[in-house]
Amino acid sequence: MVATQLIPRGIKDTRVLDAMRRVPRHLFAGGSNLHSAYDDMALPIGEGQTISQPYMVAIMSALLKLKGTEKVLEIGTGSGYQGAVLAELAKEVYSIERISALADRAADTFRSLSYANIHVKTADGTLRWPEEAPFYRIIITAASPKIPAPLTSQLVMNGILVIPIGSRFSQQLLKITKTERGLIEEYHTPCVFVPLIGEYGWQADA
Ligand code: SAM
Repeated sequence: MVATQLIPRGIKDTRVLDAMRRVPRHLFAGGSNLHSAYDDMALPIGEGQTISQPYMVAIMSALLKLKGTEKVLEIGTGSGYQGAVLAELAKEVYSIERISALADRAADTFRSLSYANIHVKTADGTLRWPEEAPFYRIIITAASPKIPAPLTSQLVMNGILVIPIGSRFSQQLLKITKTERGLIEEYHTPCVFVPLIGEYGWQADA
């Protein structure tokens, strides 16, 4: 996966590449995906949700520019795979998932792999995690029509937020850096994510 999908597409961050060599993606993808767990695609994980394509996990992780000291907020735990990659790269990861069955399954997988620096809760992630704020990095792994305003308020100065922004059916990865002069926006690769459903995302039935 690393040699055939990530390096040829330009992922250079060696900490990200090493983390993705280490994290056992097949344990997050689930039994029905056992033979396709390392394929170049997103896969269904139940509840109408997906584990993201390995390249998407790699590029989002690389855009966060993690050194190992950061407190990170992830919105959209899903299978827990992206969270585990972040836990290899940062100090603490706080991950929010709106579907309790997925949050519980991811928490079980983290426990079985002895990840002690990932904390999961079931909630609408667009409403933030006030008790644990502020965060040095925020990653949203579901598609949003706009940047959920409550999240940038929980980002430290010079912090980075990465989010797929666009319509429900196609988006572009957006990296935001919070500076004294305001939010600096950098657009990256086109992508397709499941929708961010919540008060500052899409309506559940839209
Ligand atoms: N990061 C995940 C992984 O590694 O498997 C993939 C995430 S999946 C593409 C998007 C997830 O975001 C889904 O599990 C979905 O239920 C969740 N989600 C959507 N809206 C949410 C919200 N407002 N708060 C928290 N989670 C949300």
